[in-house]
Amino acid sequence: MRGWRITILLVAALTPYAAPSSAGAASQPHVLLVSIDTLRGMNLSSYGYPRNTSPNIDRLMAGGARFDNARTVEPLTAPALASMLTSLYPHEHGSTRNGLRVRPNLFSFTKSLGRRGYETAAFVGNWTLKDELSGLAEHFETYEAVLTRKRWFGLAKSEATADDLVDEGLQWLDGHLAGSDKPFLLWVHMIEPHAPYRLRGDFLQQIGVKRAGTFFSAQKRYDSEIAFADDRTGRLLDEVFKRVDREDVLVVFFSDHGESLGEHGYLGHGRHLYEYSLYIPLGFSWPGRIAPRVVGEPALIVDLPRTILGLLGAEVPEFVNGHDWSGVLLRGEPGPADRVSLFQAHRSSVEPKEEQTRLRARGLLEVARLDAGSKEIYRVVNGRHKQFDLATDETELEDLSPEGAKPSAELAAWLETVRAGLAVADDLPPPNLTSEDLDALRALGYID
Ligand SMILES: [Zn+2]
Repeated sequence: MRGWRITILLVAALTPYAAPSSAGAASQPHVLLVSIDTLRGMNLSSYGYPRNTSPNIDRLMAGGARFDNARTVEPLTAPALASMLTSLYPHEHGSTRNGLRVRPNLFSFTKSLGRRGYETAAFVGNWTLKDELSGLAEHFETYEAVLTRKRWFGLAKSEATADDLVDEGLQWLDGHLAGSDKPFLLWVHMIEPHAPYRLRGDFLQQIGVKRAGTFFSAQKRYDSEIAFADDRTGRLLDEVFKRVDREDVLVVFFSDHGESLGEHGYLGHGRHLYEYSLYIPLGFSWPGRIAPRVVGEPALIVDLPRTILGLLGAEVPEFVNGHDWSGVLLRGEPGPADRVSLFQAHRSSVEPKEEQTRLRARGLLEVARLDAGSKEIYRVVNGRHKQFDLATDETELEDLSPEGAKPSAELAAWLETVRAGLAVADDLPPPNLTSEDLDALRALGYID
C-alpha cells in the first residue's frame, strides 16, 4: 500500500479530461450528497488501489474535483456526520460518541439552504443516525432512518441495504419533482462496507478475487462490499440524471471515516487516529462549473458547509469552521497548502444511565495534529505520544517520538480546547437510548 498517493497521481494523469461546457448550469443547482459509511479512501481504485472496487465513483471523481488529501475529524459515524453538517468539531456540537445527540438549534448548511428555498431530505442507513440518537433530523425537512434489515447478531432491524436507501431517495425525489419547482438537496448515506463485511459474491470477478475455497479475508469481503456500494451509487446517479439535467446537479461524494482492517492490530474504527481511520474520499462534481482536477492540499470533513455554500454563492456566517474550497474548485485558485489539521477520538457508544458530563469527559481517547505531513498522536488514556512522517511513512509504522516524549505545545493546546468543550454540557440533550438501541449498537460493535 505504500506509495498510494504516487499511484493516484499517475491514474489521475491518465483520466480522460472532459472539457467544461458553459451551457445549462443553474444558478441554484440541485445538490446530491452521496456518502458511504466506513469507506477508507485508499481502497478506491481512483485513489490508486489495485483492485477495481469503484468504477462508478471513479467516473464521478474523474468528471470533477477529487480531493487526494481529505480526512474526517473523528472516526465515528454520528460525530463525523454532525461535523459534516454543522462544521463544528465533536467537542463543540456535543455528539462525541454514538448515542450522544448534538446540541439543538445549531447552524448547518442544509438548514441554510432550506432558508434559501431548497427542499432538503436525508435518507440514512445506520442506526446511530436515528434522530432519537443523533439529533440530526432538525437539519432537514425530511429525515428518514431507513432500517430494513438486521445485523448478523442484532435483534432489531438496524440498517438498510444500499438498494433500499436508493429506492427511498428516488421515491422522495419523484414526489418532490412532481409537486415542486424548488431546487432539492438530497442526501443518501449507505452503510456498506461497515463490519461485519458480508461477502458480495457478485462482485468478486470485478475486483479480481478468485472464488476458490470458502474463506475470504476481511480485506476481500470489505472490498466486495465497496464494489456493491459503488454499483448502487452508480444506479442512484443514473436515476437522478434521468430526472434532472446533469449540469444542474452539484454532486458531493464522501465517507464519514475509514476503517482499520487489522493494521496496527486493530479491526474497526473510532478508537485510533491512524490514517486508515481518518483518510476519506471526497469529490465534487458539477459539469460546466467544476473542471476535472485532483486537489492535493489537506481538506477536512468540516469544510463541506463553507465549500457547498461558497459554490452556490451563498453568504457564510463568520463563525462557521472549515475552509471554503469554492475558489479552488470554480477558479483554480491555490488551496491552503500549509493548513494544520486537528483530530479527536472518543469511546464509541454510551450506556443510557451514565451521567452526561462524565460520559463525555471519560470518553476522550486520543487527539492528533497533522502539519505538512508531520503527524503527532497523543493517547490520552495512557499518556503515550507518537510521531510520524507521512511523506515517507504513510502506514505509520515508524514511530519517531523518543521514549517518554510529551505532546508539542500546539497539540497540548488542542487537547485543552477539546477538554474544555467536553466540560460544557448544560445545554446538551440527555442520551435517549432504549434497550433496542443498545442491542443495535452492540451488533454494530459500538459497545465494549
Ligand atoms: Zn460510520
